[in-house]
Amino acid sequence: MALIVDMDKIVSLCKRRGFIFQSSEIYGGLGSAWDYGPLGVELKRNLKQAWWKSVVHERDDMLGLDASILMHPNTWKASGHTENFSDVLVDCKKCKKRFRQDHVGKTCPECGSKDFTEGRPFNLMLKTYLGAVEDESSITYLRPETAQGIFVNFQNCVDTSRKRLPFGIAQVGKSFRNEVTPGNFTFRTREFEQMEVEYFTRPDQAEQSHQKWIEDRFDWYLNLGLKKENLRRRVHADDELAHYAKGCTDIEYHFPFGWSELEGIANRADYDLQQHSKVSGKDLRYQDPVSQEKFFPYVIEPSGGVDRAALAFLVDAYHEEDVEGSTRVVLRLHKNLVPTQVAVLPLLKKNHEIVALAKNLRRDLQKSLTCVYDDTAAIGKLYRRQDEVGTFFCVTVDVQSLEDKQVTVRSRDTMKQERVSVDRLKDYLTEKFSNDF
Ligand SMILES: [Zn+2]
Repeated sequence: MALIVDMDKIVSLCKRRGFIFQSSEIYGGLGSAWDYGPLGVELKRNLKQAWWKSVVHERDDMLGLDASILMHPNTWKASGHTENFSDVLVDCKKCKKRFRQDHVGKTCPECGSKDFTEGRPFNLMLKTYLGAVEDESSITYLRPETAQGIFVNFQNCVDTSRKRLPFGIAQVGKSFRNEVTPGNFTFRTREFEQMEVEYFTRPDQAEQSHQKWIEDRFDWYLNLGLKKENLRRRVHADDELAHYAKGCTDIEYHFPFGWSELEGIANRADYDLQQHSKVSGKDLRYQDPVSQEKFFPYVIEPSGGVDRAALAFLVDAYHEEDVEGSTRVVLRLHKNLVPTQVAVLPLLKKNHEIVALAKNLRRDLQKSLTCVYDDTAAIGKLYRRQDEVGTFFCVTVDVQSLEDKQVTVRSRDTMKQERVSVDRLKDYLTEKFSNDF
């Protein structure tokens, strides 16, 4: 079993090193809202880029989309969110605390009382008003999922791309849910980022396609470095499924707070396009170009959370090891995810020639790699700083570099050092990052 790091260490590292800050901290913070700092935003960008590359650019059956967060309110009537997207809440009559009914069982977790109010549904969509008038007609919602932006653009994508089944549409974007009990750091928040695919197939090919997506998505997390023993699949029981769904499998990660969902891969049958056809009055059936037959495609939906994935990769990468009697914290992130690929460090910051060479190298490297320069501490401390945030290589310029035109390249994982000539440095490093996985 791998050592499970405790969440406090992750939260503390994230704050200390600029991965994740509490939102509006100077005003006392806003519950369950988080800001990605200078290193966090790089990690998240890399994660989304790796996802996009894998599900869009490296396939010939996928299209990308970026739909707006605000959508016509009828969207949510068609999708069922207006009617059904709610948690049932109960109040403890003794301590007055409010809970999700499915979270409390029969006893109040706060005071032990068994006396609850009747359950009431509470819609999870965040409501707002468009325009200057705040009345019924101007009510709209911040989307609770990116998926519906894909369904309402299905026909546009078919018409403009001439794609034939099976094909899919991918989207990354923010979604909002007024969660009653957010928590576990960035795991459950009211504002979050999703990476979703809607993959359209003929009904008789849906099951096969579903299984393939489950495999592909599982492998994606593995290939980007999550440990196998911390990943599992969980097939939903029949009573967990939406009434229209034919099946759903979650990819779960072993977080310090337990096994929790990273991504759900559902077979949604033909529910979504049918519903939007009904409510919009537009025929969203697909017409087979050969047989002319018209039908509603089935939809396979791999739906992952960017924030959850970022948290899982951080937790999984966190290592403490003993090096010559002191603890080295090292973030063993995959090289395609690291916020900084290379740090250039001068051994002596008072030697102008060393500093000049180091700065020149940095300027040259940063055209093709993410690169930082740091001279604010002694070399041992600079190495540890970079290890702690996952920087893949450190390049050190020393006195000898001025004579032999070579620098020291140190690997984060092995701490092995190698002398590389200044002329060859850029090629040497870019090559290390060029092969994908
Ligand atoms: Zn109570």
